[in-house]
Amino acid sequence: MAYEPGNNDYSDSEIDTRSVRSGQRRTLEGEHSEPIFTTSSYVFASAADAAARFSGEQPGNVYSRYTNPTVRTFEERIAALEGAEAAVATSSGMAAILTTCMAHLKSGDHVVCSKSVFGTTVALFNRYMQKFGVEISYVDLSDLNAWEQAMKSNTRLLFAETPSNPLCELVDIRALSAIAHKHQALLVIDNCFCTPALQLPFRFGADIVIHSATKYIDGQGRCVGGVALGSKALMEDLVVFLRTAGPTMSPFNAWVFLKGLETLRLRMNAHSSNALTLARFLEEQPLIKKVFYAGLESHPQHLLARQQQSAFGGVLSFRVKGGKDAAWRFIDATRIVSLTANLGDAKSTIVHPATTTHSRISQEERDAAGISDNLIRVSVGLEDVEDLKKDMLRGIAAL
Ligand SMILES: *Cc1c(COP(=O)(O)O)cnc(C)c1O
Repeated sequence: MAYEPGNNDYSDSEIDTRSVRSGQRRTLEGEHSEPIFTTSSYVFASAADAAARFSGEQPGNVYSRYTNPTVRTFEERIAALEGAEAAVATSSGMAAILTTCMAHLKSGDHVVCSKSVFGTTVALFNRYMQKFGVEISYVDLSDLNAWEQAMKSNTRLLFAETPSNPLCELVDIRALSAIAHKHQALLVIDNCFCTPALQLPFRFGADIVIHSATKYIDGQGRCVGGVALGSKALMEDLVVFLRTAGPTMSPFNAWVFLKGLETLRLRMNAHSSNALTLARFLEEQPLIKKVFYAGLESHPQHLLARQQQSAFGGVLSFRVKGGKDAAWRFIDATRIVSLTANLGDAKSTIVHPATTTHSRISQEERDAAGISDNLIRVSVGLEDVEDLKKDMLRGIAAL
């Protein structure tokens, strides 16, 4: 296509086209790649123009806590991928969850949350939302009866992550959205593990989708960021909170993430394929007691995963024969996978949840959640899978 400033309509295009092109509006310079607008404020054509933009009569940029063209490109591109009307980019995944809570909860409201959500999400609910008078109940992610039982007349929001970390448990999003809507509550899905490349929660009735862009959207472990998506009406107050409180995404981070979206599907399919191969390999090893990965036929929710996701993602976990010492020996014997709690990176990572990501919760809570001392989590990266198998065999040999 010839150079055309401002052209940005890919609404009739397929998903792979949108992931590469949506959201870009070329400037008069005719740049091919998206520029990074490192500017805190914007100039106006006249005093009257400044007044009109401040009052909102005239659309346009005022200040980068409000809007920034690079951040907007990221927002429009991820909204096109998730099939959402609007996206609100934030400084981290946690800031996306906080912003959603600030916009949609008030004192006296009740939240029902899955027990197996990201640890800091639980800390945000327990330490801060409760402090401001929001009540929280926790239920087993896959137990739809428990969700229904937990609903109250003041339940405003249901919060779930599917698949869960680290045991790859799922919830039927369509069934959960029916429960939420029967009680006039909003269903919020943290779609961090699948990304829109593998799962589209809005198709199953979710109201708000959250991402930690830090994980697969970046995909190379460089930047921290987040995003919330939904209808324009539901996002409206998130925008106001962001402008008022300020946890906005930086233009540089937005640029890294929007470039990440261009390869998201390719990467997610490669992560999924490596993870499935590795999960099957681990399942055959006599010293591995159990492998948790929804792509395995042995996973109790394998069929649901096939209906709800186009592939099974890059994170798996497994129990080794023995206890904590055996798990630590396994981890210390690996030579390729990085020992770090991060996930969703091109580089594979390995971690011992009981003594790191889940060490702040009590032993009883860990037992209830299935985070045993012999459990190991691997975020499968993009290395050659034969090399990854060899690395797992090094771990097994140390058991
Ligand atoms: C990492 C993560 C978060 C928090 O995101 P940050 O970008 O680290 O703030 C939230 N949910 C899930 C599922 C995560 O993995």
